[in-house]
Amino acid sequence: MKKKPIIIGIESSCDETAVSIIRNRDVLSNIIIHQNIHKKYGGVVPELASRLHDINIVKTVNQAINLAKISKKEISAVSFTLGPGLIGSLLVGASFAKSFSMGLDIPLITVNHVQAHILAHFINNSNINNCSPKFPFLGLVISGGHTQIVKVNDFFQMKILGSTLDDSIGDTFDKLARILGFHYPGGPIIEFFSKNGNCKKFVFSKPLINGLNFSFSGFKSHVLQFIKNKLHNNPSFIKENLSDICASIQRTMAEIILEKVQKATLKTNIFRIALAGGVSANHDIRQVFISFAKENKKWEIFIPKKEYTTDNGAMIAITGLLKYEKNLFDSINVSPYSKFKNF
Ligand code: AMP
Ligand code: MG
Repeated sequence: MKKKPIIIGIESSCDETAVSIIRNRDVLSNIIIHQNIHKKYGGVVPELASRLHDINIVKTVNQAINLAKISKKEISAVSFTLGPGLIGSLLVGASFAKSFSMGLDIPLITVNHVQAHILAHFINNSNINNCSPKFPFLGLVISGGHTQIVKVNDFFQMKILGSTLDDSIGDTFDKLARILGFHYPGGPIIEFFSKNGNCKKFVFSKPLINGLNFSFSGFKSHVLQFIKNKLHNNPSFIKENLSDICASIQRTMAEIILEKVQKATLKTNIFRIALAGGVSANHDIRQVFISFAKENKKWEIFIPKKEYTTDNGAMIAITGLLKYEKNLFDSINVSPYSKFKNF
């Protein structure tokens, strides 16, 4: 019987050092080390991030191998994030992966981080549906670095239909959270304080952007100005209305992306939608999509389990596996890239 391939996936594009081992499409281990140091700076400090990756990478790899109960020699290939991301951070993962591949004499596989967020849906039991979306489907990537609607025809045939013209949705969550006095990353904190809030209490205008692109900078300024004006009249405005402010911000963002995806389904006649990226961990955003799908029977929604939403090694390993099956290997001369490149 043919041996099932075992792939290691290494992710180091931002502030998570993450390593996962998968056998076939099953996750054997998925270790994520978060860099809490950035909290006090209000965002990721690139130099600190790369230094911490350097400190953490070897122990994260060892932990992932031990937890998977395999030996290094059983690993069939090493996959790692080549880009986009912070260049210093990417270099740490790339250097490690290259050495690992040379040392064990196994293939090296490069991974596009954004593509990997979408392909996470092909890990066994990775979403709440417990099955992978059929092709074609629409991938909605909502993360700290990206906001995109992608038409997915096959594993490696993806076309961007729309993306943000300025800030990402995750960055918008984080910046608005900062205005409210929260530390980085602020998305989960906004979600936390939204729980008992009234999402209809404050009405924020939504950006009017043609086509399938997004824009969040105007929305962000609008909320900022609104809060400043309120604080001028009542210095306790945030404290007295925190839950309602958070719930209203969160719901408006959910509606902005839902409306764009609605447009995309009508344009493409594809009604299968897979959410991906850190912001898809948000409970309200999930509910808004699930409720819409309940009322619109054509819609089929795929929502990743929380561990596969924010940056993780398993999404890199599954992309590595899918490339391994097609013999899509890379040379050790590849260089990381910081800006998004087309799929
Ligand atoms: P990623 O870039 O995929 O690792 O996702 C990180 C981004 O997701 C950050 O901007 C976080 O603030 C955001 N995020 C993570 N969890 C949540 C959540 N529950 N609600 C809103 N945003 C979130
Ligand atoms: Mg990401």
